[in-house]
Amino acid sequence: MGRIFVVEREGSSYRCKFCNTQLALADDLASRAFHCRRGKAYLFNNAINFFLGALEDRIMLSGSHTVADIFCCTCGQIVGWKYEAAHEKSQKYKEGKYVLERGRIVDDIEFSTGFYVDSRSSISDSEDN
Ligand SMILES: [Zn+2]
Repeated sequence: MGRIFVVEREGSSYRCKFCNTQLALADDLASRAFHCRRGKAYLFNNAINFFLGALEDRIMLSGSHTVADIFCCTCGQIVGWKYEAAHEKSQKYKEGKYVLERGRIVDDIEFSTGFYVDSRSSISDSEDN
């Protein structure tokens, strides 16, 4: 891969939970009503600072789609997927749009108030050794 250019946009945005790189603007948020295997997900009209994985045909709850995984360009974490093509007419509106998994992004408000949900289990300090 070539050199990575990270862009920073004005306005309220959603960022990679792992490295705080901007991934999408709040203005580009299309829907909060998405779900993925790992929980809630948001649909965006546009995304930034990512690279795409290989195209794959995937059967989802809403039908068959051609999608590509989205990875954060800074830390390489998978953060969601892009809909390249929808095979059902009713799902065509998703084509070219991006889904970011809610558990893998933080918004500016969460970041500034220090609210942070860590889904990893912490090491217990109450065990007898
Ligand atoms: Zn990242």
